[in-house]
Amino acid sequence: MIQLIRGFKDILPGEVELWQKIEQTASALFEDFGFKEIRIPIMEHTELFARSIGEDTDIVEKEMYTFMDRGGDMLTLRPEATASVVRAYIQHKLYAQDPVRKFYTIGPMFRRERPQKGRYRQFYQINAEVFGIASPYIDAQLIFMLATLFSRLSVTDIKAHINSLGCPQCRPQFKQALSDLLAAKTEVLCSDCQRRSSRNPMRVLDCKVPSCREAMSDAPSLSDYLCSDCKTHFDMVKKSLDKLKISFEIDKQLVRGLDYYTRTTFELQTGSLGAQSAVAGGGRYDGLIKALGGSDIPGIGFAIGFDRLAEIVSLNRPDIEKKADIFIAALGEKAQEKAFEWSCAFGITGIQAETDMANGSLKSQMKKADRSGADYVLIIGDKELEQGAAVLRNMTTKEQTEILMENVLESVTATVRR
Ligand code: ATP
Ligand code: MG
Repeated sequence: MIQLIRGFKDILPGEVELWQKIEQTASALFEDFGFKEIRIPIMEHTELFARSIGEDTDIVEKEMYTFMDRGGDMLTLRPEATASVVRAYIQHKLYAQDPVRKFYTIGPMFRRERPQKGRYRQFYQINAEVFGIASPYIDAQLIFMLATLFSRLSVTDIKAHINSLGCPQCRPQFKQALSDLLAAKTEVLCSDCQRRSSRNPMRVLDCKVPSCREAMSDAPSLSDYLCSDCKTHFDMVKKSLDKLKISFEIDKQLVRGLDYYTRTTFELQTGSLGAQSAVAGGGRYDGLIKALGGSDIPGIGFAIGFDRLAEIVSLNRPDIEKKADIFIAALGEKAQEKAFEWSCAFGITGIQAETDMANGSLKSQMKKADRSGADYVLIIGDKELEQGAAVLRNMTTKEQTEILMENVLESVTATVRR
């Protein structure tokens, strides 16, 4: 038997209801904050990701699904959404009327990482991006929106971690200080970090190898190197979060795995997921739109790990599978035909009706009715057809009432909706 690809997964009925609920909750909330949905392709030219995420990052170095298509183009399954949303913004001149635009998008991402709990090769993200706003208020508002989403989903064990990565003005001094430290610690770093030390020292701060984290515990903090504009910006973000009563902690090791971030970066972490504690991450990327060929327009966004969020929400609420509203048990050919007509009529009025199209015995149909979870069963056979009345059975009380066939739709709808 052919199995699914390692690191990929099916989201089955029973679980998918939760995904739908999260999706609906997120889009309703985001729309209330002025975001519009955008849908982007799952594949792009490799260069888009290489240029935006950065050549020396884990994602570009070793996690992307890249291949040459039959026409010789290098293509990549998207490892994240921001680059594509920025590309669409530039390509379709979505800034033309007003550079301020807010978008959200929900869909699969692909990274060839080592599969484990909370880490897949096809995983899903809920993304939000804001273009054209430099004010720190939007940074705080995005974090507020995230926190609100989690609380609407009854996820409480959440903490916001924030940091500032500075800007091209102040970062070089920090990088220098970091490089000096790394030079002194070369022997204790993993081989990846030894290579990163010279090419992209900030990546070392993001390494998950325990010995590297240990070595970096006394690393310099970017917050000590911020230029005055970056410092004012960061102070304002913190003040605004206080005002919104969002509790946060400053995490100087939070540098995020993508090169394009500037100033505010943040992550929402939870204690309920074990090692994969980050449920959402994001930050400001003021230079990205320009780097991808657009104008000098600031940007900021976040990505929620949908799989991890679904996992946490399901810990609180294991079963929300939708049950049938009514089961129609029909005996004999004529009754089957009636059941078929009724089930179609119920379906278009929003009543979920199940029937047994295999024409089983009454006993087997009642068993199926039980399994369908329906609270009511409508029973018809030759006798009922002749008398023009069907039997409606309440599965909880076992009480049975007769209802006129010509009123079946109205009566059942009224009973089921009560
Ligand atoms: P991590 O530190 O866990 O590797 P990341 O920094 O690589 O995360 P981002 O690129 O910021 O992750 O993506 C945002 C969110 O997407 C993460 O916080 C996480 O919840 C989720 N995510 C990232 N990679 C995976 C994956 N392979 N499987 C499932 N979820 C993922
Ligand atoms: Mg990662």
